[in-house]
Amino acid sequence: MIGRGTDMEQVKEVRRSAPVLNERGLAMQVSRPCLSVVVPLYREGRQVRQTVAALAEVFRSLDATYELILIDDGSPDDTWQAITEAASRYGFIRAVRLSRNFGKEASVCAGLEMARGDAVVVMDGDLQHPPALIPEMLRLWRQGDADVIDAVKQDRGKESALSRIGANLFYRSFNALAGQDLKNASDYKLLDRRVVDAWLQMRERSVFFRGMSAWLGFRHKQVYFAVPERQNGASSWSTLKLVRLALTAVTAFSTAPLHLVSAAGAVFAVFALILGTQALYLKLTGSAVTGFTTVILLLLIIGCVLMFALGIIGEYLARIYEEVKARPRYVVAERIEPER
Ligand code: UDP
Ligand code: MG
Repeated sequence: MIGRGTDMEQVKEVRRSAPVLNERGLAMQVSRPCLSVVVPLYREGRQVRQTVAALAEVFRSLDATYELILIDDGSPDDTWQAITEAASRYGFIRAVRLSRNFGKEASVCAGLEMARGDAVVVMDGDLQHPPALIPEMLRLWRQGDADVIDAVKQDRGKESALSRIGANLFYRSFNALAGQDLKNASDYKLLDRRVVDAWLQMRERSVFFRGMSAWLGFRHKQVYFAVPERQNGASSWSTLKLVRLALTAVTAFSTAPLHLVSAAGAVFAVFALILGTQALYLKLTGSAVTGFTTVILLLLIIGCVLMFALGIIGEYLARIYEEVKARPRYVVAERIEPER
């Protein structure tokens, strides 16, 4: 494998197999670089230039070959134009434009499928995942005792109290239901080629990158970073999008809610038995009173529980429906590949 092993070996390997790309990368492009960096972009027209420049600077300091994969997730702004301009300047850029906005998870998936590196870094395109961390991640990976380097948030940066509470609630329930602690985990990761290949074998339509990477196992190591503030544009995650992602995450990783429905059924059956026996006893002994309020309350409670239960089953049904349709996870409209 290129670039892995002892330090001496790496240097020799890299020199023998591929020289470092120059700024335009022409004629120096190798079929299989050491490092691929995958960046999903949505409405980042004003940000792309800065992000690519920051990455180019980091790349220059690496003793490894590299490629940058930019995914335009169907942005309505000038993101694609900015990508095209960047690609004409830097020869290490490969890019695709998706035919519409498929969501960040699908874009990451598109990037992982394109990536050819022995190590693949996935990061946000708004510089909230500092590129300066890449050399450290690469160094840890090269030590050879970890297959995934997770960049873990030291803190969650500036965010509203509501989104902090929402995130906490999600991580707690996800941990309880799916048995995975994703708290402070981010989508900023370095994955070894073996992990990427294993990841790509998971063929589900609704993708949850963080959860799927954790589910795969392998040997993990952590690096820590503070989340800087976004410089341009705004976060494109609406509350609805976040709730949808949380639902995908939970339904993809746990069937516990379905079991909860059965458990609720069992608890209600016990109550029904006790109340039923009591009612029958009162009736037989002739001391039954007209319990209008009780009946109304019971009706309301049972009505709610039934609706809730149907809703949970509906969520899973919807997922099965999405999966059996087996549509592609994303559709590519345009591609940029550097000249060789
Ligand atoms: N993104 C994307 N598709 C989307 C939404 C976001 O590719 O539908 C990208 C976005 O361009 C950025 C990354 O995903 O590079 C993280 O998005 P954002 O900064 O909005 O999320 P936050 O930092 O608020 O979690
Ligand atoms: Mg961001």
